[in-house]
Amino acid sequence: MRVIESISEMQQQANMWRKEGITIGFVPTMGYLHDGHLALVKKARQLSDVVVVSIFVNPTQFGPGEDIERYPRDLKRDLGLLTEYGVDITFVPYSHEMYLQGYQTYVEVKELTQPLCGRSRPGHFQGVTTVVAKLFNIVKADVAVFGEKDFQQLLAIRRMVADLNMDVEIVGHPIVRETDGIAMSSRNAYLSPDERQTALRLNRSLDEARRLVEDGERNGDVILERVRSMLEKGRGLRIDYAELRHPESLQEVSLLEGPTLLALAAYVGKARLLDNRLITPPGMN
Ligand code: AMP
Repeated sequence: MRVIESISEMQQQANMWRKEGITIGFVPTMGYLHDGHLALVKKARQLSDVVVVSIFVNPTQFGPGEDIERYPRDLKRDLGLLTEYGVDITFVPYSHEMYLQGYQTYVEVKELTQPLCGRSRPGHFQGVTTVVAKLFNIVKADVAVFGEKDFQQLLAIRRMVADLNMDVEIVGHPIVRETDGIAMSSRNAYLSPDERQTALRLNRSLDEARRLVEDGERNGDVILERVRSMLEKGRGLRIDYAELRHPESLQEVSLLEGPTLLALAAYVGKARLLDNRLITPPGMN
């Protein structure tokens, strides 16, 4: 596996591949890799001739109070894993080259980024869509794989690609979980053993909501009430949001009449954790 740090070197390699008709699969990450990331890599390998993974802790998607310096990093281990998984290139750009002095261009997806994480992390999605647009211009991917754990991010990227006529196919990948059900996340590294137990409540409350709907409940308030009360019983857990939304428009849903996204964000200790599930009332797919 080759490691590339320079933007122009990455672009040259991508141009060469494209000229030869070799298709490029791409998985953007912030590193500190786990099996969730590696599942996306496997998917990208199935869909393309070569695979590029980027590792870049993107400063523009972190807010002022969010400590980018504290974000977990282990580049050596990451490169070992990506070699094992047969990745062709890991692209590890320098922040000062990605954001040159005088940088002033941003990509913003409007409505889809307003609710949920957009409310508690102003500017976050603008940072995400900007860096992903830049990475698409550098890696020149034919197909890029993103996780459904960051469901709103996936929707924003799909919207950006459609709206700006970007020539790349976006593929979503289901959430990869630990055996106990917790959604894999680099931020799980912040959790103490006790906090980890508390964090299990996210997935369990999603299970409970699904059970309620399977038993016939359609009222969004009733479902969310149950979810919130399960979460609030967790020691040290603070809910950021627990909401039912349409899985394409992200409009709020008060009565379940089709597939509906139940999206959760909660602080457990120092970690802000996300989870979500698509819940479909029986017979309403
Ligand atoms: P990150 O390194 O957190 O920016 O994530 C990079 C990519 O991996 C994003 O597309 C995430 O949605 C995806 N990802 C992270 N965790 C998971 C998971 N548990 N299951 C599936 N995809 C994930």
